[in-house]
Amino acid sequence: MRIKCPHCGERSLDEFSYYGDATLRRPEVNDQDANLLAKFTDYVYLRDNPAGQHQELWQHQFGCRAWLVVTRDTNSHLMTEVTAAAQKGEAA
Ligand SMILES: [Zn+2]
Repeated sequence: MRIKCPHCGERSLDEFSYYGDATLRRPEVNDQDANLLAKFTDYVYLRDNPAGQHQELWQHQFGCRAWLVVTRDTNSHLMTEVTAAAQKGEAA
C-alpha cells in the first residue's frame, strides 16, 4: 500500500504512522453534564469499525512529518483522498 502525501508525493506505507479515526471530537467539558464520564469513556476507548469509506489520521513520520487525513475504503483499502490535516482543521 502506498500513500500520496500532498507535500512529498506517493510514498511507501512504511514512512507513515496510523493514528486512528480522523472524525473523533473531544467532548465539551461541562461539570453539570451527568453523562460526561460516559462521553469521555466513549471518546477514549470505544471505536467504530466501519465497512466502507472512512477518514483516518496518518502522519508522514519518516518524511515531511505532516499530519494527513486519508479517506480510505476499509473493504478495498482504496484511498480516494489524502489532504493535509491542517486544511481540514484536524491537527497542525
Ligand atoms: Zn510528506
